[in-house]
Amino acid sequence: MSTGKKQTPKPAPASAPVAKVIPVLPVTQSQDALDAMLARATFARGAAVPSESSVPAAAAVPENEQRCGLIAIVGKPNVGKSTLLNALVGQKVSITSRKAQTTRHRITGMRTRAATQFVFVDTPGFQTRHGNALNRSLNRTVVGAVNDVDLIVFVVEAGQFNLADAKVLALLPEKTPAILLANKFDLIHRRAEIAPWLRDMQERHNFAEFVPMSANNAKDVERLFGICEKYLPVQPWMYEADALTDRSDRFMAAEIIREKLFRLTGDELPYTSTVIIDKYEEEGALRKIAATIVVERDGHKGMIIGEKGEKLKRIGTEARHELEALTGGKVFLEIWVKVRSGWADDEARVKTFGYE
Ligand code: GDP
Ligand code: MG
Repeated sequence: MSTGKKQTPKPAPASAPVAKVIPVLPVTQSQDALDAMLARATFARGAAVPSESSVPAAAAVPENEQRCGLIAIVGKPNVGKSTLLNALVGQKVSITSRKAQTTRHRITGMRTRAATQFVFVDTPGFQTRHGNALNRSLNRTVVGAVNDVDLIVFVVEAGQFNLADAKVLALLPEKTPAILLANKFDLIHRRAEIAPWLRDMQERHNFAEFVPMSANNAKDVERLFGICEKYLPVQPWMYEADALTDRSDRFMAAEIIREKLFRLTGDELPYTSTVIIDKYEEEGALRKIAATIVVERDGHKGMIIGEKGEKLKRIGTEARHELEALTGGKVFLEIWVKVRSGWADDEARVKTFGYE
């Protein structure tokens, strides 16, 4: 697959209207009024989104009518960025987990709907707890990701804002339109509590729009396309109409193994554990993959291997099933576990492992 992005000029400011946020209501506002406000805030602009069935064939859109732009999805760990990206792309391109900090790479997924190609950038959560080489590398990736995009989707958990959120918000450039996406809205049971929170949020940044929603609700995700669309400039698409990710099969294999690793080891395993693909061979529909899980301590190795190798076997089996579903063929998967003490503190080694 071609990964070359075409470089295109920035859009004229007129093509990205910076709508002011909806007016803030007093806290005493009635529940009905607040509901109306929330409905307007989220959905007014998304009303005209075409359904999937009415989206014309991609080839039918002439280049001069195509819209295309970069959207950075940013936010502290665990707010739902990966869930959102996967839902937007319609395929798993980013791993999700209850454990924070599972996304390390700047993963792009893309989706072309009608005349518009949405190119999404997922970023690792801004690392606040550790100052080692790995985290410095992650922070550079976040800063790089928000400075060359057409739209920023700043994801927070609805009703919440703490120091970790503030640190990510501080990285956002003033010049780029940013949408405040209040995710996990399904967990908010008293909507009236949102008004003072929203007022506080509006004072923190000049958000273009406020979108309360749930990343795991298909209708909300559908509406989000319509909300984002108008911020993307009229310019030719960067990728094929049916492209969903520009990550290689090799990269996806490492991500899938890493996801199973974190899912099955729970909170015991430090996030510094990583997966390296040593071999990725294709023979017709068969993939022969060899991977190494690199951990920092002997104790971590034991955690992954488990009693009589049970844990590692499960990681391998689950990863293999998912890889077979993704590639549509048989997968032969070998996984090794190695201890490489202290690698997260070594700049050179962080580079070797592929974190920019
Ligand atoms: P990331 O670290 O920001 O990429 O967050 P993830 O996408 O990995 O999600 C973290 C957790 O939040 C996972 O357990 C998700 O299933 C969960 N989650 C994501 N979006 C929603 C939502 O809209 N509602 C609820 N209730 N949970 C969500
Ligand atoms: Mg993530």
